[in-house]
Amino acid sequence: MTQTLTLRRPDDWHLHLRDGAMLQAVLPETARHFARAIIMPNLVPPVVTGDQAAAYRDRIMAALPDGMTFEPLMTLYLTEDTDPDDVAQAAASGLVKAVKLYPAGATTNSASGVRDFDKVRPVLERMADIGLPLCVHGEVTDADIDIFDREAVFIDRVLDPVRRATPGLRVVMEHITTANGVDYVKSNDTDLGATITTHHLIINRNHILVGGIKPHYYCLPVAKREEHRLALRAAATSGDDRFFLGTDSAPHTDALKEHPCGCAGCFTATNTMALLAHVFEEENALDKLEGFASRNGPGFYKLPVNIDTITLTKSETATKFPAKIDMGEGTVTVFDPGFPVYWNVTA
Ligand SMILES: [Zn+2]
Repeated sequence: MTQTLTLRRPDDWHLHLRDGAMLQAVLPETARHFARAIIMPNLVPPVVTGDQAAAYRDRIMAALPDGMTFEPLMTLYLTEDTDPDDVAQAAASGLVKAVKLYPAGATTNSASGVRDFDKVRPVLERMADIGLPLCVHGEVTDADIDIFDREAVFIDRVLDPVRRATPGLRVVMEHITTANGVDYVKSNDTDLGATITTHHLIINRNHILVGGIKPHYYCLPVAKREEHRLALRAAATSGDDRFFLGTDSAPHTDALKEHPCGCAGCFTATNTMALLAHVFEEENALDKLEGFASRNGPGFYKLPVNIDTITLTKSETATKFPAKIDMGEGTVTVFDPGFPVYWNVTA
């Protein structure tokens, strides 16, 4: 029996497009299904100023194939030297939709991130004044904190104090991976949302480590215990509008993933919508998918919901997704959920 599901066109509220040949290769994978995406600024060097964000937006639009439409929602990489006036100007012009906080050393290309939060206080206060959201990579980087505990410790030691010190600051906890993250969002009434990735709804840490190490399941924040995955699934499928899709689709070439010091990131742009339909159907929550993927994100960012739609179809034969995307100087492996998926985007 064929089943179909039509949704307002989704957006991706956390996406890595990279630059150059990689940008060229991966942008169509997102633009095929998504109208807009919050573009992560962790290039080398990072996108720190409004001028750099404008130039990066132009490179993204130049890489968009003819006939495709896509709107990149730009972000600035918060450093201890960020100028509050530059941030305010980039936001007022409509170019920049958020500022991204990376604790220094937390993930790919985060060396310029913040060490001393007092130094960014003027920027955070200006953002609170103008309503510009702060997107947070929520992990402490202290060497003495276990990597599986870094999100929970970040909430207590950094996020909660920063939010208390900056009333009115709107914060998105990016790619939450724990029940602690879910609970923290739920315990706050306003100004706090969270993105959840596709892969964290599907894998727990066993998928990475049991039966041989699986580099393509390694990402940051790293997948946690099963109880945390279940908490994320419950939050994503609950209809609570503080939770929304941010794929954190993060391409690295296979040579860098399958490496003695492999890069962190799962590439899910290609099959995210099909995988989400599978997950939401398993949770008897297909009616909540549009909220999670298409409505809650624009709600938080105070942007209109997309007018056009996509249609997902469930068929009797498993969908064949490309295993890899060719980027010329290498390939990027598409996230493999490890089970057959019968949904696909058909219109
Ligand atoms: Zn990311």
